[in-house]
Amino acid sequence: MEEKKHAQAKMLSGLIFSVFFLLFHSPISSATSPPSPPIVCIVGGGISGSSVAHFLRRDSPHTALTLRIFERSGVVGGRMATVVLAGETFEAGASILHPKNFHAVNFTKMLNLSVKKPPSSESSLSLGIWDGEKFVFKTLDSNSKSSIVQRIVAITNSVLLFVRYGFSLVKMDSFVQTTVDNFLKYYASFESRPVFETVDEMLKWAGLYNLTARTLQDELVDAGLSPLLIEELVTVITRINYGQSVSISGLAGAVSLAGSGGGLWSVERGNWQIVAGLINHSDVVLHRHEEIESISYHGEYYELNSTKGNSYKCEVAVIATPLDELNIHFNPPISIPKRKLQHTHATFVRGLLNPAYFGLVAVSEIPELVGTLEDPNLPFSSISVLRKHDEKDMSYKIFSRKPMADVLLDRIFSLRKETIRINWGAYPHYSAPEVFAPFVLDGRHLYYVNAFENAASTMETSAVAAENIARLILSRYSDLMLSSPSNLKSPSSDEEDLHSDL
Ligand SMILES: Cc1cc2nc3c(=O)[nH]c(=O)nc-3n(C[C@H](O)[C@H](O)[C@H](O)COP(=O)(O)OP(=O)(O)OC[C@H]3O[C@@H](n4cnc5c(N)ncnc54)[C@H](O)[C@@H]3O)c2cc1C
Repeated sequence: MEEKKHAQAKMLSGLIFSVFFLLFHSPISSATSPPSPPIVCIVGGGISGSSVAHFLRRDSPHTALTLRIFERSGVVGGRMATVVLAGETFEAGASILHPKNFHAVNFTKMLNLSVKKPPSSESSLSLGIWDGEKFVFKTLDSNSKSSIVQRIVAITNSVLLFVRYGFSLVKMDSFVQTTVDNFLKYYASFESRPVFETVDEMLKWAGLYNLTARTLQDELVDAGLSPLLIEELVTVITRINYGQSVSISGLAGAVSLAGSGGGLWSVERGNWQIVAGLINHSDVVLHRHEEIESISYHGEYYELNSTKGNSYKCEVAVIATPLDELNIHFNPPISIPKRKLQHTHATFVRGLLNPAYFGLVAVSEIPELVGTLEDPNLPFSSISVLRKHDEKDMSYKIFSRKPMADVLLDRIFSLRKETIRINWGAYPHYSAPEVFAPFVLDGRHLYYVNAFENAASTMETSAVAAENIARLILSRYSDLMLSSPSNLKSPSSDEEDLHSDL
């Protein structure tokens, strides 16, 4: 009997406790608790997507924020990828970084990646400008290991360049320097740098917009460069870096010219490691082999469907890949200006160039970097030596606008042991005046990082655009902010040292 009473009392107290618990812990009280953190879905596992994830993680006070990255291929990096030729790893896509690419510099430091500086002999790398029949200009080659000889060759080459192009070289340098200085404004503190709603606004603020409205050729003529420098050296550089002529926009051209200066660097064993590191570092749910085929807006969220038949709900969706050659179905439809991608065929050959193709007698007479003039009959934009295994065995990289057929390669090479071909949908086909797609594709929370690629396509410009997109998301999606967006401060100098050189 006592036992029964005791059990009843226990049941009663349990019931009272349950009522109390329900009263004070029921969903009613959840009306005052913070909403569950939103999910941000990012389409594309390249530098744009990984940087958006990094900056969101860095700047959002919402620690429980879920970040998903969808990557259709099995590896991350996108256009930052490597090939293995003759057992050695080489950059297949984006290969060089500028010393003032401060996001890349900081990512590399933060991720403890090793920097690969160009070999000390780089300044004495021989250059030849090929017009299809002859080399119209050639610098000296130095096979000497002696740094004194290399220095002398470098000085002689500077003199040769000066003799051919004169003070126009100084004017070119000053054009590039002014553009780089304007670009550096994108590293200013958050307090002095607005969040940009459009690409146009972002470029105007930095004083770069006008350069996108005119061709590089027009800009350089106005800057006082000689026609010879524009037709030869500048053309060689734009053909190598963007596979296009000097009719690209002034901004893309300046970025391309900056990429041929000194102090260039890359990441040891592959630039793609920056992307992998950012993803690992940002607590991202990575969906590899998952291609997004449709994005539909359902009032409070976006539904992303993949070709695997999976469906994902996200409050914010970010497109971090060029949409130009993709077939993603948007519901409701979106509208962006038409843009063509420039295809660059990267062909990697292990073998030996045929001197007879260049009207020469010995392979040693062929410059290590062969650039070409703008002539539709020329079958390649550039050929460069990647590695000299020995005098009769070398690794080369060729850039061309069309695929390099075997018959053509067999004329250019006397010996070919290994050939790898990659067809890149490489960068926009630049056409001044540029028209930009919106950063916000639907006026809600569907964002497009690669709208900025019409300005210039590089790893760093992608990171700069990604940082702005992250800030734009944080300022527009209030649930992501625990405090007011205006409280968003620049990262402390301990976290990111934006002005340190390598
Ligand atoms: C040959 C070449 C040389 C270059 N040289 C340089 C250089 O020296 N220096 C430099 O700074 N830049 C260089 N660039 C440019 C640079 O590579 C790009 O600007 C930059 O890598 C763009 O990065 P991204 O993340 O925007 O796009 P991407 O790298 O193209 O990444 C987009 C990713 O999205 C994925 N994807 C696409 N559609 C879907 C989908 N529906 N679902 C899921 N995933 C999808 C793709 O597989 C890809 O991995 C070069 C580019 C090329 C091609």
